[in-house]
Amino acid sequence: MKRPVKGENIHVIGAGLAGLSAATALAEQGRRVLLYEASPQAGGRCRSYLDTVMNRYIDNGNHLFLSGNRAINTYVARLGSGGMITGPNRACFPFMDRESSRRWVVDAGAGRLPWPLLQAENRSPDSTILDFLAVRRLLTARNEDTVAALMADNKALYNALWEPLAVAILNTPPDEASAALLGAVLRQAFRGGAKTCLPRLAGSGLSEVFVNPALKYLRDRGTSIGFNERLNAMEFEGGRVSSLTISGKCVPIPVDEQVILAVPPWSASPVLPGVSVPARHCGIINGHFVLPRKTDKLTIMGLINGDAHWIFVRGDVASVTISAVSDRDEYRLDELAHRLWGDICVALNMENTLMGAHRIISEKRATISHDPENCALRPQARTAWPNLTLAGDWTDTGLPATIEGAVQSGATAATLVSGALT
Ligand SMILES: Cc1cc2nc3c(=O)[nH]c(=O)nc-3n(C[C@H](O)[C@H](O)[C@H](O)COP(=O)(O)OP(=O)(O)OC[C@H]3O[C@@H](n4cnc5c(N)ncnc54)[C@H](O)[C@@H]3O)c2cc1C
Repeated sequence: MKRPVKGENIHVIGAGLAGLSAATALAEQGRRVLLYEASPQAGGRCRSYLDTVMNRYIDNGNHLFLSGNRAINTYVARLGSGGMITGPNRACFPFMDRESSRRWVVDAGAGRLPWPLLQAENRSPDSTILDFLAVRRLLTARNEDTVAALMADNKALYNALWEPLAVAILNTPPDEASAALLGAVLRQAFRGGAKTCLPRLAGSGLSEVFVNPALKYLRDRGTSIGFNERLNAMEFEGGRVSSLTISGKCVPIPVDEQVILAVPPWSASPVLPGVSVPARHCGIINGHFVLPRKTDKLTIMGLINGDAHWIFVRGDVASVTISAVSDRDEYRLDELAHRLWGDICVALNMENTLMGAHRIISEKRATISHDPENCALRPQARTAWPNLTLAGDWTDTGLPATIEGAVQSGATAATLVSGALT
């Protein structure tokens, strides 16, 4: 086992992907890291577990990312877990309209330029290639613009493409969601042509790809990892963080030590005097259903006018997502299960199949709401205290609250802390 070699303690609070990204980047440099996590497990909002009703390992929510996500690629390369990431080798998204039963595929191909979009059968119904050029409005959007305000004039393409894309990427109703943030994602996604916008999933589960290898990486490098260790308070003295209260115990922070706070905004706010944090959140509901038969084919399908927004099929489990759920939306989860199963049966051409074991999970604060006003409250990683750095998908990363945003925020925090220590 490698022992840490350089410097003084760096205290990382929160073992979600932001905290794991920061901790592993610092451990890679040989820094001495102490990781504290309030819950009994790591991964936060991005993890998998054995569901005893379904008797399957499931992800707490379907997590889709893109082949060109730089921070994710660097992170999994460090951990050696990139080989477990799966996805198609074309930037190809099948859709179905639940009302009209119409099916289509948006296919940007596998090359540097999205030539297949020139052919009508590779685009959303009734759209022309010129309609797609409206993407420029997103790429040049101002901070205050919403997706609906810029894109809803072409109703057909809005309903079939921009709306589902905005809901999936920003987890916010498109009439509230920041067009500039959607533009930032599309710019990153398409910078390398289809090569950088291939849809990607953690094939063997989120924890297998993003969490367990990080814990092993840290343990192999002598990082102390404390579960059930909750930050209750931070004390400040002389313009610095002077101590932490962790599960009731005082942890002094000498002047040469650093703290990275990588907890969600609702945990950060009470311990951060005078720092603005986004206050509004949007929920995500996921339904996981055991299918009668296993398939080797990976399915990622968008659904229009259904209850489900996206359907993913891996092995013998179909998982569906409803994004941008607000506090005002009321669902009876047992009724919803039947409606979601109806969506699955139609989409997968398996009508009259009885619903088997399933699990519905509702995450009320899945991400921050990406409305412009809420996003303006996202703080920078660097704080007014020279030994305190922030990380988390909700900080001002320039990206929406996603895996890529969380991992990038951790990498940024690690860079700032290393800079402060050298
Ligand atoms: C259902 C669902 C679906 C999603 N789908 C996608 C998707 O398709 N694509 C995508 O890219 N992203 C998706 N996301 C978003 C993604 O999961 C998050 O952006 C990312 O996991 C956030 O990581 P984080 O480390 O910033 O925060 P978190 O995961 O919230 O981690 C924070 C950690 O801090 C711990 N903590 C909290 N308070 C304290 C305290 N006081 N002391 C110590 N520890 C504390 C928590 O227990 C947690 O482990 C989805 C999220 C959900 C919930």
